[in-house]
Amino acid sequence: MWSCWAGTLLRGRGRCLAGVLGRRPLVCERPRCWSCGTPGGPQGRDRLFCPQCRALQPPDPARDYFSLLDCNRSFRVDTVKLQQKYQQLQRLVHPDFFMQRPQTEKDFSEKHSTLLNDAYKTLLAPLSRGLYLLKLQGVEIPEGTDHEVDQQFLMEIMEISEKLEEAPSVVGMEEIESAVRAKQKELTDSVSRAFEQGDFEKAKTILTKMKYFANVEEKIKLKKIPI
Ligand SMILES: [Zn+2]
Repeated sequence: MWSCWAGTLLRGRGRCLAGVLGRRPLVCERPRCWSCGTPGGPQGRDRLFCPQCRALQPPDPARDYFSLLDCNRSFRVDTVKLQQKYQQLQRLVHPDFFMQRPQTEKDFSEKHSTLLNDAYKTLLAPLSRGLYLLKLQGVEIPEGTDHEVDQQFLMEIMEISEKLEEAPSVVGMEEIESAVRAKQKELTDSVSRAFEQGDFEKAKTILTKMKYFANVEEKIKLKKIPI
């Protein structure tokens, strides 16, 4: 009974009360508004502004990109919703709207704006989103990981690169480009399944392959630029 009641209270009142009920001394960890001193930190759905004086608060380092853009921490994201959220938040924090505000708020708006750009760019593309998700799981892919992929795959990449070198025209390159795009789509579906199954090692292997194809895509882009 007690634990149930205490649990309800703890969930309802946050960390401050945990100090009262637990053995630790009462330490209120919630931040105060830098401008008016109101405790509780920024509130509202976007958690950006002080509820009392409406001053823009600094970015919360505890929030990851998924939380910032209000989506589930998952490989599957609705990119239309992601874009809408990004634009909505950018409109709230854009430095142009803080020209007449104190320097502290101007600085915070710059920081929020940069952070939102990084978050949006990272979550929009499947490869960077996958790599970011892995990083949140403590898994990183270091540079020079040729040994992580099988020989057959490396041969496939070499063949594509050779074909690209020898492509006589833009039409030839477009064929290679659509083949690479189809491969990336296939790998994106596979990595999505790996994340759903919680198989991060498998996701790592697939994302490594996607990195190789991303390099090929970059080469194609460069070759398309007229000299
Ligand atoms: Zn305030």
